[in-house]
Amino acid sequence: MFTILFVVFLIADNLLRLFLSIKQIRHVARHRKQVPAEFSHHISLRSHQRAADYTIQRTKTSIVERLIDSILLLALTLLGGLQAIDLFLARLIDNELLRQLLLLGSIFALGGLVQLPFTLWRIFKIDEDFGFNRMTLRLFISDTVKGLILGIALGTPLLVAILWVMDNAPATWPIWAWVIWVVFSFSIMWLFPHVIAPLFNRFEPLKNDSLKKRIEALAKRCQFTLDGLFVMDGSKRSAHGNAYFTGLGKHKRIVFFDTLLSRLNDEEVEAVLAHELGHFKHRHIVKRLLLNMVVALGFLLLLGWLSQQIWFYTDLGVIPQFGRPNNGLALALFFLVVPVFTFWLGPLFSILSRKDEYEADTFAAKQSSATALISALVKLYDDNAATLTPDPAHSAFYDSHPPALLRIQHLKKYVNKPTTN
Ligand SMILES: [Zn+2]
Repeated sequence: MFTILFVVFLIADNLLRLFLSIKQIRHVARHRKQVPAEFSHHISLRSHQRAADYTIQRTKTSIVERLIDSILLLALTLLGGLQAIDLFLARLIDNELLRQLLLLGSIFALGGLVQLPFTLWRIFKIDEDFGFNRMTLRLFISDTVKGLILGIALGTPLLVAILWVMDNAPATWPIWAWVIWVVFSFSIMWLFPHVIAPLFNRFEPLKNDSLKKRIEALAKRCQFTLDGLFVMDGSKRSAHGNAYFTGLGKHKRIVFFDTLLSRLNDEEVEAVLAHELGHFKHRHIVKRLLLNMVVALGFLLLLGWLSQQIWFYTDLGVIPQFGRPNNGLALALFFLVVPVFTFWLGPLFSILSRKDEYEADTFAAKQSSATALISALVKLYDDNAATLTPDPAHSAFYDSHPPALLRIQHLKKYVNKPTTN
């Protein structure tokens, strides 16, 4: 029974994604000839068409990627791939924990290998053709190796701990695994700015004094304690610009990509930052964190139940072995199969996230300037070749931010209005 359900969902998932991609390509192509009226003063027809072509190229790549992913998924499950790897490892290795760890490692490695040509294509073909790529092959290799070492260094203790509680506390492990997961997530958040990010980029304190004063004044206005302002050399990988916050509690720092600072004026940078501060002030980050934890607990409880059901294994092409723990198998199957059932929830998360984006925009408009945020957004859309005319259905599934047009219409309501404080 579950085999049929899985196959039906897998086919439906692929058809829906294909349908959305085709809709997106058609919609973008149809609006390629003309810059939407709201942007016609700021974005040239040439940039608009470049954004359309860029979006179409990327969408086409994702169609092929999805197809290959689904073939891999079928090969690993119903066609017996996972079973073959499991039996192979069982013959080689006596240690149960190591065997299960290697099983999960090989699944991640396979997924990574299948993804690799698509990543290379996106960076060295599409981004290169459109002039966004600044990454050399040498840097790509060093990034990949570092990412791999980091993934193994952080992932191994996490998986060992989870497999250990699964093997040793069969009745209560979902709760223990959840506690481990929460501790792990907070450790990563703490490690990220100090240890992880510096492995890949250089961070220097912001030197521009007038901008610094502006931002400090904004932070004060919003009663926000700041631990530092940093500039990151994002330009060594890509021309796309960005800014973000990292850190916990009182140790929050702001990081600007050098590419962002080179394009926006001080007023625009302040407005972008005010938007990010809006996320903090409205507690979006804490709420998202809590929601993620509740969802994680739900999934772990579900896995706790599924891992006890024989059909969960056999209907997905794996025969669990008696007299040894099958938790590695259960985890591998779960990682592989769950996304097939959850893609439908995309629009729900996108609605929640857009509500937050509008709130942050309103905050920025009140604390800083709606006009400056609009002009910053227009520059960023232009620079990142983000399409101004996404297909609404595609956007509802994939985009965490409202489409450009809606976002700017929303901001325009606050132009020339006095601030509330
Ligand atoms: Zn935002």
